[in-house]
Amino acid sequence: MDLEYGPEYDVFRQEVEQFLAETPEDIERRSFLLAATERGYLYRHIPKRFGGAEEPFDPIRETIVSELFDASPFSWRLGPQSTGMIVPTLLEAGADWQREQFIPPTLLGDAIWCQGYSEPGAGSDLASLRATAHLDGEEWVINGQKIWTSDAEDAGFMFGMFRTEPEADKHAGISYLLLEMNQPGLDVRPLRQITGATHFYEVFFDDVRTPAHWIVGERGEGWRVARANLKHERNLGGGPRLRQRFRALLSLAQSTLRNGQPASQDPLVRQRLAEIEGEVRCAETMTLRRLSAAARGEDGLVVLPLLVNKLYGTEIGEQIAQLGFDLIGDDGLLAPTRSTWNTVSTSAEETDWVDQYLFELASGIAAGSSNIQRNVIGERGLGLPRDLRTGGPA
Ligand SMILES: Cc1cc2nc3c(=O)[nH]c(=O)nc-3n(C[C@H](O)[C@H](O)[C@H](O)COP(=O)(O)OP(=O)(O)OC[C@H]3O[C@@H](n4cnc5c(N)ncnc54)[C@H](O)[C@@H]3O)c2cc1C
Repeated sequence: MDLEYGPEYDVFRQEVEQFLAETPEDIERRSFLLAATERGYLYRHIPKRFGGAEEPFDPIRETIVSELFDASPFSWRLGPQSTGMIVPTLLEAGADWQREQFIPPTLLGDAIWCQGYSEPGAGSDLASLRATAHLDGEEWVINGQKIWTSDAEDAGFMFGMFRTEPEADKHAGISYLLLEMNQPGLDVRPLRQITGATHFYEVFFDDVRTPAHWIVGERGEGWRVARANLKHERNLGGGPRLRQRFRALLSLAQSTLRNGQPASQDPLVRQRLAEIEGEVRCAETMTLRRLSAAARGEDGLVVLPLLVNKLYGTEIGEQIAQLGFDLIGDDGLLAPTRSTWNTVSTSAEETDWVDQYLFELASGIAAGSSNIQRNVIGERGLGLPRDLRTGGPA
């Protein structure tokens, strides 16, 4: 089995490495994003007229860029709600004017989005959502509540799902609307997390307004539109990232003393490290398998491995965080840093193991809980009988 990308890609890798080496470390994020797009490294699949690089589909090049950029000193990733969700959704289901108006500023971080899906009582069973929107002349009028809305305070815009057809079946009655956050009637309230940080919020709507044409797709098509971004999903697997985290764990085990010896010499710690390393290798192999399939243009292999990746990556992440937390011992009593969303770092020294341990509790819930991933993998992937559904057809 040949696991090398090939000489053409080695040249490309060197080119990207050189670009990163020549970029001044104090460059502003916006300038970095612009330069990387002009060079054809970022936003490769997005047409130039929407601010992308418009390069031919090449998942291996995308993976090389991601790996090198992730390991660089530049903070280049924007919130997942922006580049990972609304951009692909508009590319797939948006009107042309919506793509022209919203995608270019989003790609540069000038427009920040939050995702208004979950509500109290509508998380896993999202189609039960109750926040409503009704047309009043040329505007939608929105009422109700969203919850767990990440980054709502920083966001200038929200994309969300609202019940616009109260008489329709629960999935058929939902529309996908865009709206501005800074307006009367819209109240954003922080939720304090277990780490002490506040990264997600409750959002209350009291006659909030948005133009009638800020709807993506047609009325009642919100459920279909919300799933449109899956087709554009470019995350081919978390193997390299898990490897980086494992390296940080290993170096922690080597630098922490237990009974006068590095913890990595302790047979029980070694056993746990070996088990995790085995899992990380599996994840890396799955990533390569998916990458090969994507390079061959096998689209069918995209959605299901994505769910497996999420579930499996979360579980390995939990094991890494748990062992790191066990190794730091009494230092675990210290308060977490509260600094970032996800304090996963590539080095043991920089990793806040308390924060990482607490954050992992959320990873298995965010973007669809692990149980729900298992249900979907079982039903759609393995053809198992469907789970019991409540509250109407699923
Ligand atoms: C860090 C983080 C960020 C988030 N950001 C956002 C955001 O920006 N915007 C947004 O809209 N939402 C966001 N969410 C919300 C997230 O999508 C929901 O928390 C998630 O879908 C689960 O919904 P719930 O919290 O209502 O839990 P519930 O749906 O009430 O689930 C509770 C438990 O029951 C289990 N369960 C439920 N149904 C089934 C079933 N049929 N079979 C088996 N088990 C089941 C679940 O697995 C879970 O363990 C975020 C969540 C987290 C943790």
